[in-house]
Amino acid sequence: MNSYKVPRANIHELPRQRNMSKRREAIRKKQKNRLFILGAVAVFIVFAVFAIIFISSHTEPIANNNNFMHRRQENLPGFNIIDANEPAGNGQRIVIDPGHGGNDPGAVHGGVSEKDLNLSMAFRLRDYLEQLGYAVILTLESDVTLSLQERATTAKNAEADAFVSIHHNALDNDAVTEGIETWYNDTANELNAVFAGYVQDEIADITQAKDRGLRNSDRVILLRELPAALPSCLIEVGFLSSNKERERLICPDYQDKIARGIVNGIEKFFSGKNRLPEQQSEIISPPADSRGQRSENEKMIALTFDDGPGRHTQELLDLLAEHNSAATFFVLGDRITGSHRQILRNAVEQGSEVAGHTWSHRLLTALTYEEAKREIQSANDAIFEITGIYPKFLRAPFGLFNNDVRDISKELGLSLINWNIDPEDWRNRDVDIIYEHIIAAAGNGGIILLHDIYESTLEAMRRVIPALIGAGYRLVTVSELLGDAVPGNIYYNGLIF
Ligand SMILES: [Zn+2]
Repeated sequence: MNSYKVPRANIHELPRQRNMSKRREAIRKKQKNRLFILGAVAVFIVFAVFAIIFISSHTEPIANNNNFMHRRQENLPGFNIIDANEPAGNGQRIVIDPGHGGNDPGAVHGGVSEKDLNLSMAFRLRDYLEQLGYAVILTLESDVTLSLQERATTAKNAEADAFVSIHHNALDNDAVTEGIETWYNDTANELNAVFAGYVQDEIADITQAKDRGLRNSDRVILLRELPAALPSCLIEVGFLSSNKERERLICPDYQDKIARGIVNGIEKFFSGKNRLPEQQSEIISPPADSRGQRSENEKMIALTFDDGPGRHTQELLDLLAEHNSAATFFVLGDRITGSHRQILRNAVEQGSEVAGHTWSHRLLTALTYEEAKREIQSANDAIFEITGIYPKFLRAPFGLFNNDVRDISKELGLSLINWNIDPEDWRNRDVDIIYEHIIAAAGNGGIILLHDIYESTLEAMRRVIPALIGAGYRLVTVSELLGDAVPGNIYYNGLIF
């Protein structure tokens, strides 16, 4: 405070001394005031800086982005909810490949070039993924020509953890066909089917666009050029040749939905859900439990639906009711929210059965005993809370279990229910294939694996249910099919082996 110097008064200027001291006083006052203000400003700045540091260290950057996480949760009720404070991206490297570019515009319809939409979608994806903690590499960042080999090389050099190529579809002389489809190559890596499935499902869910399903092919050159171990897919996000869909595709809101769907799919893949087992040896397949007491005159079969409740579950219940039939729903705990709660009650009231498929579809054999138990029990608790009935059965995700899972099941009074008829509805999304597979494979005591989250599955059931009844089957719950099932045992059907 005393570091400043007051100007010395000139001793020879006596007549002005009084004046001078007054002036000196005034200067001193002024300087005091200035110092006080400076000090206050400095204190304020220091305080503000600390406040900013404090706030930013306690807030996730994602919160600034249009409430991305919140909107996502609203749009996907009970599904794929990830704590906003714990982004799943753990520095995984994602290579995004905007299809076409430069001399190659891709599809061009109604004045819209595919290459432009692919590139803007890639930028959107990079934004979102980076905010979730992923490292993102684009194969191209401007309107340049790039060969498929060069794109694959980028992925190789990046040592990527996943690869997504963005495309828009088109058909000549067809202004009507629309929808989303995702291509993958499972001869390179069986995880590709899982990865592509997540991405496809999440986009279809969020956009409500026509779900054209997955396309498995080893003839997509780009996917073939990629490292075999790299999870990869090529997404056709919609048809530019469709006048209606093109209008949606050029709309920023719709582009945003697609991007969020893709991000949700990637996140689901990396959040450890549904990973295929790395060590097959961990999986045991004990002898199936013997079943008896099935009347020889009465044929029974059990339809089982996994992964719901979803947007087709209520329609499915109505369909079952129409045909005086029942089914068993193996539901995910994290989908039991909002209107899905009432659907569960409706299922029980309709005569169907509700059992658990774990909380969030994690591969149980990859978890510790305690983690696996929590996954199973939390879903069952949620079912009990809504329906008042504690489940007797567990369907393990992928039908995969080990000794721990069997012990947990025994402990919780659960029998493991697998299946002997699998039309692969999640993969083909094709009404005819689903129908024909089930009719060809149907037999007394059969347990059929289906998923009530696909429209194609619902549509197939409109034909399958009356056809099975016509062939003399009663469509029953797993409880009715098995009679007294033993906790800890595994059932593939209701027959004596
Ligand atoms: Zn499942």
